[in-house]
Amino acid sequence: MQVPFPGERPEGIDLPHVLTTHDLFSTIDLEGVSTAVVVDMAGHYEALAAIEFLMTRRIKVTFVSYMHNMAKPHIRSTWRDDPAVERFYRKGEIEFLPQHRLVEVRPGIAVVQPTEADASHRRSIGADRVVLITQNKPLDGLYYELRDELPVQLVGDANSPRDVQFAITEGYLAGRRIRGDKPVSA
Ligand SMILES: Cc1cc2nc3c(=O)[nH]c(=O)nc-3n(C[C@H](O)[C@H](O)[C@H](O)COP(=O)(O)OP(=O)(O)OC[C@H]3O[C@@H](n4cnc5c(N)ncnc54)[C@H](O)[C@@H]3O)c2cc1C
Repeated sequence: MQVPFPGERPEGIDLPHVLTTHDLFSTIDLEGVSTAVVVDMAGHYEALAAIEFLMTRRIKVTFVSYMHNMAKPHIRSTWRDDPAVERFYRKGEIEFLPQHRLVEVRPGIAVVQPTEADASHRRSIGADRVVLITQNKPLDGLYYELRDELPVQLVGDANSPRDVQFAITEGYLAGRRIRGDKPVSA
């Protein structure tokens, strides 16, 4: 779940106040919530959107990421995180904890630790809600339903969620196979 610690699943992440961004943006009532921790493993705009969504509701946010800053290089390359961070500081209370990981979630609390430090550096942060942003899982149920009856192929995010260029490439190659064109390697 956490990129640098693949064998260590944080305790408590099945608790009901631990949310995906889908939960956060669509279904969850934030009445009475004053603190939230956003844990980001993806390094994309999703975390920025989650933080903004929470801060707009006057919720104090702590951002936790194993990365060295807010975002991976493809976001940094266009500096899209900088204006967002400036907005956050104007908007309300936010603390950034890069090079940190989530260790445990309890009701109202998230325990975090610097990625390069031992357990004596753990600290507890107020967290009425914890938003977990991890790599997505493919939605591939339709493929497994149809594959015994039809010559279906898994492409794009249904194969493995990535970026649009991978989906275009795999869709193109699948199209060539259907048409019977000479195969090309991706
Ligand atoms: C928040 C977010 C931000 C992103 N930002 C970027 C970005 O900046 N740059 C980038 O390159 N990529 C980005 N991506 C990734 C990119 O959107 C995907 O990699 C790409 O859309 C995958 O294309 P796809 O055709 O495989 O799947 P999709 O675009 O998901 O298309 C699948 C389609 O199939 C439909 N469908 C599913 N099940 C059924 C069914 N049973 N019957 C009929 N229709 C069905 C869905 O409704 C959907 O329209 C982002 C993704 C997310 C979630």
